[in-house]
Amino acid sequence: MPDKTEAISAEKKRSYLRHGGKCPYCGSESITGESVDIEGTGASQEVSCKECGRSWRDVYRLVNVEEVV
Ligand SMILES: [Zn+2]
Repeated sequence: MPDKTEAISAEKKRSYLRHGGKCPYCGSESITGESVDIEGTGASQEVSCKECGRSWRDVYRLVNVEEVV
Protein backbone atom coordinates (compact mmCIF):
# COMPACT_ATOMS: atom_id res chain seq x y z
CA MET A 1 0.00 0.00 0.00
CA PRO A 2 1.33 3.47 -0.84
CA ASP A 3 2.02 5.84 2.02
CA LYS A 4 -0.86 8.35 1.85
CA THR A 5 0.94 10.88 4.03
CA GLU A 6 4.06 11.09 1.88
CA ALA A 7 4.62 14.59 0.47
CA ILE A 8 5.66 15.27 -3.12
CA SER A 9 9.44 15.55 -3.10
CA ALA A 10 11.01 18.77 -4.40
CA GLU A 11 12.58 16.83 -7.25
CA LYS A 12 9.28 15.23 -8.35
CA LYS A 13 7.53 18.58 -8.04
CA ARG A 14 10.10 20.26 -10.31
CA SER A 15 9.75 17.46 -12.86
CA TYR A 16 5.95 17.63 -12.74
CA LEU A 17 5.95 21.41 -13.21
CA ARG A 18 8.29 21.05 -16.19
CA HIS A 19 6.65 18.12 -17.97
CA GLY A 20 3.27 17.44 -16.38
CA GLY A 21 1.29 14.41 -17.51
CA LYS A 22 2.56 11.99 -14.87
CA CYS A 23 1.56 11.43 -11.26
CA PRO A 24 3.97 13.40 -9.04
CA TYR A 25 3.76 10.63 -6.45
CA CYS A 26 4.23 7.40 -8.40
CA GLY A 27 5.02 8.54 -11.96
CA SER A 28 2.01 6.81 -13.54
CA GLU A 29 0.47 8.34 -16.66
CA SER A 30 -3.00 7.15 -15.58
CA ILE A 31 -4.04 10.53 -14.22
CA THR A 32 -7.38 12.20 -14.72
CA GLY A 33 -8.44 15.80 -14.13
CA GLU A 34 -11.70 17.17 -12.78
CA SER A 35 -13.28 20.39 -14.07
CA VAL A 36 -11.12 23.53 -14.07
CA ASP A 37 -12.08 26.27 -11.62
CA ILE A 38 -11.24 29.72 -12.95
CA GLU A 39 -11.09 32.67 -10.60
CA GLY A 40 -9.82 36.01 -11.87
CA THR A 41 -6.42 35.42 -13.49
CA GLY A 42 -5.86 32.06 -11.81
CA ALA A 43 -7.28 28.60 -12.25
CA SER A 44 -6.98 25.28 -10.52
CA GLN A 45 -7.89 21.71 -11.25
CA GLU A 46 -8.03 18.70 -9.00
CA VAL A 47 -6.19 15.78 -10.54
CA SER A 48 -6.11 12.20 -9.32
CA CYS A 49 -4.05 9.13 -10.09
CA LYS A 50 -5.76 5.84 -10.90
CA GLU A 51 -2.60 3.93 -10.05
CA CYS A 52 -1.82 5.07 -6.50
CA GLY A 53 -5.11 6.78 -5.61
CA ARG A 54 -3.49 10.08 -4.61
CA SER A 55 -4.95 13.40 -5.68
CA TRP A 56 -3.53 16.90 -5.90
CA ARG A 57 -4.38 20.31 -7.28
CA ASP A 58 -2.79 21.80 -10.40
CA VAL A 59 -2.60 25.59 -10.14
CA TYR A 60 -2.59 27.74 -13.27
CA ARG A 61 -2.05 31.43 -13.85
CA LEU A 62 -3.07 33.54 -16.83
CA VAL A 63 0.16 34.37 -18.68
CA ASN A 64 -0.92 35.86 -21.98
CA VAL A 65 -3.77 36.91 -24.18
CA GLU A 66 -3.87 36.10 -27.87
CA GLU A 67 -6.20 37.41 -30.50
CA VAL A 68 -8.41 34.94 -32.29
CA VAL A 69 -8.18 35.57 -36.02
ZN1 LIG B 1 0.17 7.89 -8.67
